[in-house]
Amino acid sequence: MTHVAIIGGGPGGYEAALVARRLGAEVTLVERDGVGGSTVLTDCVPSKTLIATSDLLTEVGSAAELGVEVPSTVRADLASVNARVLRLAAAQSHDIEERLVSAGCRVLRGEGRVEAPGRVVITTPEGEETLDADGILLATGAHPRVSEDARPDGERILTWEQVYGLQEIPEHMIVVGSGVTGAEFASAYTGLGAQVTLVSSRDRVLPGEDPDAANLIENVFTRRGMTVMGNSRMAAVAREGDRVTVTLTDGRTLEGSHCLLALGSIPNTADLGLEAAGVGLDDGGFVHVDKVSRTSVPGIYAAGDCTGVLMLASVAAQQGRIAMAHLLGDTVNPLRLAHVSSNIFTSPEIAAVGISQKQIEERGMLVDTTILPLAANPRAKMQGVHDGFVKLFARQGTGTVVGGVVVGPRASELIHPVSLAVSAQLTADHVAEAFTVYPSMSGSVAEAARRLHRLL
Ligand SMILES: Cc1cc2nc3c(=O)[nH]c(=O)nc-3n(C[C@H](O)[C@H](O)[C@H](O)COP(=O)(O)OP(=O)(O)OC[C@H]3O[C@@H](n4cnc5c(N)ncnc54)[C@H](O)[C@@H]3O)c2cc1C
Repeated sequence: MTHVAIIGGGPGGYEAALVARRLGAEVTLVERDGVGGSTVLTDCVPSKTLIATSDLLTEVGSAAELGVEVPSTVRADLASVNARVLRLAAAQSHDIEERLVSAGCRVLRGEGRVEAPGRVVITTPEGEETLDADGILLATGAHPRVSEDARPDGERILTWEQVYGLQEIPEHMIVVGSGVTGAEFASAYTGLGAQVTLVSSRDRVLPGEDPDAANLIENVFTRRGMTVMGNSRMAAVAREGDRVTVTLTDGRTLEGSHCLLALGSIPNTADLGLEAAGVGLDDGGFVHVDKVSRTSVPGIYAAGDCTGVLMLASVAAQQGRIAMAHLLGDTVNPLRLAHVSSNIFTSPEIAAVGISQKQIEERGMLVDTTILPLAANPRAKMQGVHDGFVKLFARQGTGTVVGGVVVGPRASELIHPVSLAVSAQLTADHVAEAFTVYPSMSGSVAEAARRLHRLL
């Protein structure tokens, strides 16, 4: 029987474990902190649970337009919200562990490292165990980047892993970093009623994302009372009593009650024995992998954030599944980044799939683009939705849909027809011809596709 050793129990690791069992392998998975990984315990699941409360409050805030009077005292009890967040995360971790065990995986709580190709050493509270494995999967994830001059204290200066200890809505939260994580938390705390300042080192928020979506969300943020500071690079963060001071590189200072650092992630690849085993890493410490999750050493695979390929739970899981299919001789479909759909859980949400506008411009692709504001959609009018759009990209000549962006409430759901079109290589006409419900937000997806129709 083929023996697989998996280091790390996030989606990269646990999805791989389930696939490997299904393909008949003996599986040992070692996890340091809790099955489900950062995804379930500190990152994705907790943040989206917090955002669910914030979204509810944001919706309630616009109830008057729909004729509902809501008392101005409606507020979230952050202690209860965070207790729910942590309960939900722990329950999900428990569910996943049960699934792994009932599938026949051996799950160990401890720390794993590669001693040599084909050999893993596991340190548990009970002692050390050496494991010979035919295949090793590294799925060790990443942790928040912090800086010497901005040391989190877990109370007032926080990483995204530490915010769930807050018992009261921060009076003034300064969020440093305007990438996806910074934007999501800035949006969430605004929705929860905190004063929020978002510090961005670039000229706009979400610098890596679709420019129309980023401009729209920045307008919404400022309209909702957030202060967005562009071209402002953090130099240091200090705490004095219950105040924090953020100093910018140009000497300006900001004062708030809390500071959340969203400065990106560092891969968990140090002290894993990778260099000695010959596993190639890049300058940032990310493991080099190919499209079937192979590292530079035969028999050693890697998946998820430790590879830095695309830091999403869905991509981590897919890389893990692909690795096991490759190792265990099943049909292998290499990772196709051009088909990945993703969502930014701001209010409104920003979802995207396929080729981006930036890639189109960089590659000089011949693509027709259409952008349709949601405000014209009848369902949006009924629901009091004013912000959002559907944007589609289709190849000139063939009309094949190669990408799209949806901004709006539940854009994470609305993107699915576009994702289907991208993965099945449907044309804009195919998308336009599929019936949508009247009235529905998805009517705007079909209408945008209709606008891409060209006479032959
Ligand atoms: C705030 C935030 C929100 C996010 N929201 C989303 C979202 O909505 N959707 C989405 O798709 N992605 C989201 N992401 C990204 C997503 O969380 C990551 O891409 C995902 O966690 C990667 O999964 P992974 O399996 O690679 O690593 P992880 O989930 O980090 O799991 C790795 C595990 O390995 C363990 N480990 C590390 N070293 C060892 C060792 N030596 N021995 C044993 N165990 C070890 C760690 O303890 C950890 O539990 C978010 C990220 C952040 C920061």
